[in-house]
Amino acid sequence: MKVLVPVKRVIDYNVKVRVKSDQTGVDLANVKMSMNPFDEIAVEEAVRLKESGAAEEVIVVSIGPQQAQETLRTALAMGADRGILVKTDDTAEPLAVAKILKGVVEEESPDLVVLGKQAIDDDSNQTGQMLAALLDWPQGTFASELSIEDGKVTVTREIDGGLQTLALESPAIITTDLRLNEPRYASLPNIMKAKKKPIDEKSPDDFGVDMANRLSVVKVTEPPEREAGEKVEDVSELVSKLKTKGAL
Ligand code: AMP
Repeated sequence: MKVLVPVKRVIDYNVKVRVKSDQTGVDLANVKMSMNPFDEIAVEEAVRLKESGAAEEVIVVSIGPQQAQETLRTALAMGADRGILVKTDDTAEPLAVAKILKGVVEEESPDLVVLGKQAIDDDSNQTGQMLAALLDWPQGTFASELSIEDGKVTVTREIDGGLQTLALESPAIITTDLRLNEPRYASLPNIMKAKKKPIDEKSPDDFGVDMANRLSVVKVTEPPEREAGEKVEDVSELVSKLKTKGAL
């Protein structure tokens, strides 16, 4: 079984994001970038499938600027076998990404594509679903458990009030949720080894995909500042404040 994992380079989740003064987006200058956390979970799951013998090869793909190569190297250091960088300096919206991934799938014929459920920069939560639609493949989204036996893919999903288990025929699309696994840290020897693993370079044109944006951002704003709390003297004051204000 061959597994394809799309990984996106995003602002590191520890960074406090600053909105640009003209409200057109967020400031990316000198900001630490990392692999999207849900994609780390996807790489981890794919590498575990390889380690258990269920998969033979793990290919990682990133669509983005030259620096997205660093994200691919991180995935290679975690245990992926080879990478594909689809280089573009344009903003890659989910539909364009899904179309490029369709092209990669047609070239590579994976049995499974494991994506993150969402990229934490735009929070779109669309790419996996769009790719499933474009390929007409079954999808198991928000997976919290994944198992593969005799080519049958079983996905457990966390849904409101319980769990849902789906059986999918491969080839299939999976998107990862937070509880699927805990991604490993790449060891130094594996980081060194990853430098020698191949990364193929492509462009959106190779897949005939037009990167023109279909969406326009109207405005990006900071979340409202949290108001300071209030100290109360005793329980009766607390109760009276809760009655008059609803909350402190
Ligand atoms: P989104 O639909 O943008 O929230 O992204 C969902 C998932 O699609 C991510 O977790 C990635 O696995 C994949 N993805 C989105 N954008 C890219 C990209 N530019 N390069 C590679 N994978 C991507």
